[in-house]
Amino acid sequence: MAIVGSGIAGIATAYYLCQARKNASVLLIDCRQPMSYTSAQSGDNYRNWWPHPTMTAFVNDSIDELDRLARDTSNVFNMTHGGYVLATRRTDVDDLITAIQGEVDAELLSGQREVRKKFPALSAAINNVIHIRRGGDISGQQLGQYMLEQLRSAGGRRLQGEVTGIGPGYCLEVNTAEGVRVVNADVVVNAAGPFAARVARMLGIELPVKNIYQQKIAFEDHLGAIPRDLPFCVDLDPKHLNWSEEELDLLAEDRDLAWLAEKMPGGTHCRPEGGPQGTWVKLGWAYNKRVSEPRDDMANEAVIDAQFPEIVFRGAAAFIPALQAYVDAPPARFSHYGGYYTMTEENWPLIGPLDNTGAFIVGALSGFGSMAACAAGKLCAAHICGGVLPDYATDLSMARLDNVELMAELVAAPNKGLL
Ligand SMILES: Cc1cc2nc3c(=O)[nH]c(=O)nc-3n(C[C@H](O)[C@H](O)[C@H](O)COP(=O)(O)OP(=O)(O)OC[C@H]3O[C@@H](n4cnc5c(N)ncnc54)[C@H](O)[C@@H]3O)c2cc1C
Repeated sequence: MAIVGSGIAGIATAYYLCQARKNASVLLIDCRQPMSYTSAQSGDNYRNWWPHPTMTAFVNDSIDELDRLARDTSNVFNMTHGGYVLATRRTDVDDLITAIQGEVDAELLSGQREVRKKFPALSAAINNVIHIRRGGDISGQQLGQYMLEQLRSAGGRRLQGEVTGIGPGYCLEVNTAEGVRVVNADVVVNAAGPFAARVARMLGIELPVKNIYQQKIAFEDHLGAIPRDLPFCVDLDPKHLNWSEEELDLLAEDRDLAWLAEKMPGGTHCRPEGGPQGTWVKLGWAYNKRVSEPRDDMANEAVIDAQFPEIVFRGAAAFIPALQAYVDAPPARFSHYGGYYTMTEENWPLIGPLDNTGAFIVGALSGFGSMAACAAGKLCAAHICGGVLPDYATDLSMARLDNVELMAELVAAPNKGLL
C-alpha cells in the first residue's frame, strides 16, 4: 500500500493500517520531511464544538483516540484540556447554544461580572461566555513522531521523493534524489494535503477542493498580557477594527486596503503557548477568503500579507484589552507564518474511496486536520481493510457529493465551523 503524503493525515492512516492489518506492507512517500508542510503550521488546537452533529461525532471519535494515545504514551504529545472559551458581547445567546450540535459539554457564563470573575483578561464588554469543555491543544509534531515510530516497528517504510504520475494498476512514478523509481502498489492513498487535487488528477479524478492561506503569529509576551492559564479564547463577534480617523482616511484612499475599514468576521483567537512557565502567545484569525495555488515555499504568502500581524493584534485587543499595548508597540520577538486550509465548500473532509479499484483519499482537512487526524486515519484504514465503518463514513466520503439534499443544506449553512 502506498500513501502519498507524510503529513499528519498520511501518517495517521499508515498507523491505523498497521493496527488494522498485521503484516500490512505500508510505504509512505513524500518529497519533504514528515510533518514539515501544512502539519508544521498547525495551531494544534482541538475542540468538539461543531455546527453539525456529524462533525461533532467525527471529532469526538478523534479526541477519544487522542485520549487513549495520551494514556498509552504518558502523554508524550502534551495534550491539554483547558477547553475553548467562546466570548461574545451579545446578551441573548440562545441561538448560539442551540447551534451547538451533538454530544458537547458546555457551560454558560452570563453577565459581565460572572465572565470577568472567571476570565479577568477578557474585555468588560463581553456579556456571555460559552466554555466548551472538551478542547485544548496537543503537540502534533510529537504525535506524528510517535505514530512514525510505531509504524517503523510494524515494518512500515518511507521513501523520499515526489510522485509525478500514477499509471494503471497502480504504478507510481517517484522522482527521488537517485533518479526516477517505479513503485507498484495494490492500494494508493492520496494524503497529499494542499496537493491532493494534483495527485487525484493523476488518477483522472477532479476533487472539489480549494486552498486558502490562513495565518498566525506567535510572539513573546514580554508584558505578561496573557495569563498563562488562559484557555484557548475565541471572539465570536464580527467587528470593525479600532482605527483612528486619520487611519480610516488613509485606508479609504488605498484600494487594496480599504476592506480593513469594513466589518471583519468573528473568530479572532488567542492562547498561551508553551505551558505555565512559557512566555509565548499565539494569535490567529482565519479571515482570508482568497483561493490560491499551493506554493513550495508557503512562508512567502505570509510576506504578501504583511499587514496580518497588525490586523490580528487589533482584532485580539478588541476582546483582550491588554493586547492593545502590542498594537501601540509591536513585540520585539514574534514570528508570522501560515499555511493552506485545503477545504471543500462545505468544510467537511473527504475520506474514503476515490475510485472503485483501490485508490483512496484522506484529505480536505481544512483547519481541523490535527484534531481530526486520528479519526480520519482510522476511517480511511477501515475503508481500505473492509473494517467496521462508523455511521458518518458515507457522509464524509466522496459519496456525499451525490447526496443533493445534504450538499444543499451544508453549502447553505451560515456557520461551517471554520476557525
Ligand atoms: C495556520 C494553520 C493553523 C491550523 N491550526 C489547526 C489547529 O489549531 N487544529 C487543527 O486540528 N488543525 C489546524 N490546522 C489544520 C491542519 O494543520 C491541517 O488540516 C493538517 O496539517 C493537514 O495535514 P495533511 O497531512 O493533510 O497535509 P500536509 O501536512 O500538507 O501533508 C501533505 C504532504 O503531502 C506531500 N505531498 C504532496 N504532493 C506530493 C507528491 N506528489 N509526492 C510526494 N509527496 C507529496 C507534501 O510534501 C506534504 O508533506 C491549521 C492549519 C493551518 C494552515
